[in-house]
Amino acid sequence: MSGLDPDLVRRFWTREPVICAICRRSATGLGYMPRHGAPGIWLCETDAPHGRKVYFMPKAELDAFEARAAREALDVAGPFLDEVGETRLDYLTPEQIDEFLRRLLLGYEDALRRMVLSHEPPF
Ligand SMILES: [Zn+2]
Repeated sequence: MSGLDPDLVRRFWTREPVICAICRRSATGLGYMPRHGAPGIWLCETDAPHGRKVYFMPKAELDAFEARAAREALDVAGPFLDEVGETRLDYLTPEQIDEFLRRLLLGYEDALRRMVLSHEPPF
């Protein structure tokens, strides 16, 4: 099948489930493998139905989605710094760091999933 990118598969194929190939949260035992014995990818429950799409997505396309998702995540987390009135990360309390990182990671996850599943142009 066209589109299979060995570099992409290598990034996500581990012996045990570690990270979801779509959102980067904890993977479950769910995954996608095109045929028995082939390298596969692990997925979380939310993204399990979409494994085939990511598996065959060209690496350059997923890389572009990841870069855009990271920028969008900053747009989600950045306003928290305004809320607490501090822009220097080393001045944040441990609780504020936790909240900033939570918003950053959830923003990344939401943006990446939306891009992968919506057929948005990656470039
Ligand atoms: Zn996921």
